[in-house]
Amino acid sequence: MFSCKLCETEYVYVSSLCDGCRRIKHFMNIYTPQRVYDILDNVLSRNEQGQETKMKDEIKNEIENKQYNLRNKQIKRGTEEN
Ligand SMILES: [Zn+2]
Repeated sequence: MFSCKLCETEYVYVSSLCDGCRRIKHFMNIYTPQRVYDILDNVLSRNEQGQETKMKDEIKNEIENKQYNLRNKQIKRGTEEN
């Protein structure tokens, strides 16, 4: 049994990261580590109300990008079928 390499508060048996910290690693794989650092810096350097607003802004950008990419894929798929 070892402590988690990131949070150093949870104990792990097989992997080096606990479940919570593995989620952070997962986001780094999806969005790049720099994007995760930027979001954490932008969000956590504010007071609680500012954090909530900033979280919504940050997440809104990600959701809009995903929706834009999905729309483009659907349009591309539509033109390939015709
Ligand atoms: Zn951890």
